[in-house]
Amino acid sequence: MVVEKQALGWTSQRVRVVAEADVVVIGAGPGGFAAALKARREGCTVILVEKFDMPGGVHTSGLQGAANTGVGGIHTELMERFDREGHIYTADEKELPDWAGNALSHYDYYLTPGTPFKRASFNPDGAGNVMVRMLEEAGVHAIYGASFVDVEMEQHGSERRITHAIIETVDGRKAIRGKVFVEGTGTSEVVARAGAPFVRGGGRQPETVTTDPAQHPIPGGLLWIMSGIDFAQTAAYQKREDDPTLSKLINQARAVGDIPPMLYRPRLATQGVYGDHYIGHPTVDMSPIQGPGTFIMWQNVPYEWALHMDDDAEHASRAKKELRALIDAEARFLIKYVPGFQKAFISHVGRYVGVRDGRHPIGEYVFSIEDAREQRRFPDAVTRPMTKTFFWDAYAKHTFEVPYRCFLPKEVDNLLLTGASLSFTFETIFMVMRNFPWCTQTGEIAGLAAARAVHQGIPPKQLEWNEPLF
Ligand SMILES: Cc1cc2nc3c(=O)[nH]c(=O)nc-3n(C[C@H](O)[C@H](O)[C@H](O)COP(=O)(O)OP(=O)(O)OC[C@H]3O[C@@H](n4cnc5c(N)ncnc54)[C@H](O)[C@@H]3O)c2cc1C
Repeated sequence: MVVEKQALGWTSQRVRVVAEADVVVIGAGPGGFAAALKARREGCTVILVEKFDMPGGVHTSGLQGAANTGVGGIHTELMERFDREGHIYTADEKELPDWAGNALSHYDYYLTPGTPFKRASFNPDGAGNVMVRMLEEAGVHAIYGASFVDVEMEQHGSERRITHAIIETVDGRKAIRGKVFVEGTGTSEVVARAGAPFVRGGGRQPETVTTDPAQHPIPGGLLWIMSGIDFAQTAAYQKREDDPTLSKLINQARAVGDIPPMLYRPRLATQGVYGDHYIGHPTVDMSPIQGPGTFIMWQNVPYEWALHMDDDAEHASRAKKELRALIDAEARFLIKYVPGFQKAFISHVGRYVGVRDGRHPIGEYVFSIEDAREQRRFPDAVTRPMTKTFFWDAYAKHTFEVPYRCFLPKEVDNLLLTGASLSFTFETIFMVMRNFPWCTQTGEIAGLAAARAVHQGIPPKQLEWNEPLF
């Protein structure tokens, strides 16, 4: 790999080429991070471009630190390393006796009150530091604070091939030359710039509140952290006043204009939108993180706004501005009205509003709900059969496997997909594969595919895959 101040050459659009590597990964979320690490460990030179200051994407920069049991490979390595370095915090019934079954709990509201529970999370910034170090140790050349903005391409038979990624940094526009490129932006930005086909966020939905369903993506969200909370006091209030959802306090505050209309809005479940998921939050939505008295809080984009934050700059800006305003209003309400929050304070707001339903690339195979229902098997499966619950399919458990072709966008032969950008229909990616463990696994698979392609001197689309990695 070469990274130089002086030009290694110029692209056809006269952009200075400053670096080259076997594998160029764009975006360092769980998918891009694992792809870069794996490709490097397999002996490739690797450049990783990330616009923020650490890897981890939604799970670090976006504060979504939910920790899971390791599912193998780099995901298990991450969980073990976060734990060893003291970044995993687990709350249980001893610390929060009134948490299981509490209406305010994002994850544990459905438990029987008083039952034992364990809610594990990792400290987003601590975890991000570990991930920075892991890339350094492996010899990945990570460029932080650099935004990918475009590609340059050339024709190869019926397919096109990316030759350069164009990035913007503090000292201007530059090009990075590569053999294989990896899509790790979480919103298929590379796919879009390369002109490969995709379905816009919003997908197909059977029933919605409007006549224009395609305009309503599953809402994204901005996560934030509040510290200094005495939850025992909150729980005592909930019981004493028989107010499990804090509705009495919310109504009181709303009556005097202390709560804006979009804060604590009703769920739209009765109107057939995404079941009971992510649509509206009638009350505070929180989960323990980092240590005692500290909780992560969810502010989701109101469904009605139908924001496409991944491809519409006005929408992206509105989301940032208005969700911050909602966080501001929520914090003021909690401190002023809710027992247990008097000494609480905002300790962190996510670096970005996470997108849950961005572009969905159309790959050589598009995995759909029928593949899961019919338990289709694939000769190019990258995973062994996995059994998962599909909540939009009446909570059915399906056993399925993922074909390598879901990693290969149509029309471009040297780009590999990972994470939330796999070639899946919107509902199947949302129900199963977009979660942190599987994004890390698919990143690792893409990294291995990139390395095999480089070593064989072929583009990933010509690579034969006939043995599952996980
Ligand atoms: C609000 C929210 C809550 C969620 N809750 C959960 C949960 O509880 N559990 C769970 O498992 N999953 C959850 N998810 C889903 C999960 O976080 C994502 O699906 C997953 O992080 C996607 O991984 P990724 O690697 O594809 O991309 P991302 O995590 O989105 O990472 C993409 C990375 O690419 C970088 N990037 C993007 N564009 C550029 C560019 N142009 N130039 C340079 N860098 C760029 C970003 O800065 C980021 O670091 C949630 C998602 C959201 C949005």
